[in-house]
Amino acid sequence: MIDTIRAGLAKEALLKGLYEMQGRIPLSFEVFPPKDSDGRAVLHETVDRLAPVAGKGFSVTMGAGGTTRSRTVDTATEIASRTGRPVMAHLISLGLSRDTVLTTADALWDRGIRHILALRGDRPKAEQSTMQPEFEHASDLVAALRGRHDFEIAVAAHPEKHPEAQTPEQDIDHLKRKLDAGAGSAYCQFVLDPAAYGRFLEACARRGVEAPLIPGLMPLERWPRLKRFALMNGTSVPEWLNQLFARTETTPELEPYLAAALTIEHARRLIAYGAPEIHVYTMNRWSLSMALSLVTGHK
Ligand code: FAD
Repeated sequence: MIDTIRAGLAKEALLKGLYEMQGRIPLSFEVFPPKDSDGRAVLHETVDRLAPVAGKGFSVTMGAGGTTRSRTVDTATEIASRTGRPVMAHLISLGLSRDTVLTTADALWDRGIRHILALRGDRPKAEQSTMQPEFEHASDLVAALRGRHDFEIAVAAHPEKHPEAQTPEQDIDHLKRKLDAGAGSAYCQFVLDPAAYGRFLEACARRGVEAPLIPGLMPLERWPRLKRFALMNGTSVPEWLNQLFARTETTPELEPYLAAALTIEHARRLIAYGAPEIHVYTMNRWSLSMALSLVTGHK
């Protein structure tokens, strides 16, 4: 009986959170730098469409090993001037010399970019054994950026534990170290089960993390590809999602409707768990992100 009451109270608290936010919170949109002129046209359409609902602006990724370094700087600058929205540039350190990382940061600062997502990054496959990081952990990068310019710095968080971490608690302690080094917030790896984000918020609160922890939302479309990404990141894949998408295999024209319904439901559950903002991984596509903004976003 007590358990039933407790379970009921938890749901009440979640619903109260959702009502308090009126189901609407600010959105930010992650894009990647285009490779060619076709990709550039696609990106332009995406940011033009999303700018009016991008209350928290855009972020621009950087390829593993810093491969897109100058394209990241150019794309971030271009989106900022094109949309008038704040832009956060991802900056990774693994695979780059200290000097290259810091001069890239200087270039961003000189071009008016004030927000950085400071990341260690991953080794490109070909270089697995040879690369020696000069900034061993993202916390080292945060500290170096702090001493360089007055950036607003964010870091990555991993609600289901970073694959290299031994325990979730140890990973949260490392997150805390990055925040203590000078980052003001953390953007989370995407989850496919919003309850994993809720549990992460609780675990972080228990270990003294006070900074905003912004969930990442990958629109639930193109399921086989999304599932592959999830498995690569150590993100758990609920079997019920697998089964739902399997039902569209014989009628693929239904897949976009299912994707939209599930994405909006997912966002509402993240809000109910206490998301202060949602960071949408757009993959440079605008339509589902825009549909999401109709229901959950505000300017
Ligand atoms: P870290 O914080 O350094 O953590 C890496 C591992 O080291 C973890 O297991 C951690 O527990 C451990 N660790 C951290 N500090 C210490 C310490 N002091 N002592 C011992 N162990 C420690 N990748 C890209 O290449 N480009 C991108 O644009 C990009 N964008 C991303 C955006 C978001 C929102 C997220 C969540 C991830 C992104 N990634 C990107 C992926 C990211 O680069 C990888 O997850 C990478 O493996 C870890 O980066 P990190 O900054 O979290 O590293």
